Amino acid sequence: MTAVPAWPPRSTPRLFVDHELVPGPLTLDGPPAHYLAQVMRAKIGDPVKLFDDRTGEWLATVAEVGKRRLVLAVTERLRPREPVPDLWLCAAPLKKGRVDWLAEKACELGVARLVPVVTRRTVVDHPNTDRLRAHLIEAAEQCGRTAIPTMADAVKLPALIRDWASMQAGGERTLFFADETGGVPAFAAMRAQPGPAAILIGPEGGFDDEERAIIRALPYAVGVTLGPRILRAETAAAAAVSLWMAAAGDW
Ligand code: SAM
Repeated sequence: MTAVPAWPPRSTPRLFVDHELVPGPLTLDGPPAHYLAQVMRAKIGDPVKLFDDRTGEWLATVAEVGKRRLVLAVTERLRPREPVPDLWLCAAPLKKGRVDWLAEKACELGVARLVPVVTRRTVVDHPNTDRLRAHLIEAAEQCGRTAIPTMADAVKLPALIRDWASMQAGGERTLFFADETGGVPAFAAMRAQPGPAAILIGPEGGFDDEERAIIRALPYAVGVTLGPRILRAETAAAAAVSLWMAAAGDW
């Protein structure tokens, strides 16, 4: 008899829960319950993967499906929380859509922290960090991460610089300043400077000359180029994070 492939292929749903997971029953309500019951049409006995950004990823099975709530039986830990490369992405907030894409890619590419940095030419100076955190969570659910990048409050560039040392909990963090007017090639600079790092990306209009001069004078900053073309800010962010991850050996 000819084998009939199951189609469409059904992958195990994977969800973030915001509290520490342990073996035993777990009741979900609200959007996660709606997603499993209504969107994924989960049935009793179906497997679900869960992660909590604390202990790692767990396997659970659906034990009860109600209209508004769903009970899972959490059974075994599949893997511990991943080690997260110590990279912050400090990026000027962009218009909705573009900044959502940036958050999604930052999570997929492995950053530890997303920091919206308001510069003089930033158009969106009050980014919706709740929405951005939701994108980080969704991306982590989709790409298999067991750690969610932390979402920092928006900070103005002068405050970021003023508080840089106190934010580092000891130790130094190199700031790779993506400068569209030129700098040292990013990959070589990142390989030469291992350790905790941050990447600074400007807004659609770039940095102004005074900001550029202030950043370049910081002892922990390295001005880097991402090549001869002017990239959109979100492209520059994804390219710079990819280069850093490659230099750090994460890839
Ligand atoms: N308005 C600026 C101009 O026309 O020169 C372009 C700004 S660009 C769209 C936004 C940000 O992406 C820049 O501030 C920089 O951080 C980064 N970026 C874009 N292309 C880059 C490159 N080739 N090298 C380094 N950084 C770049």
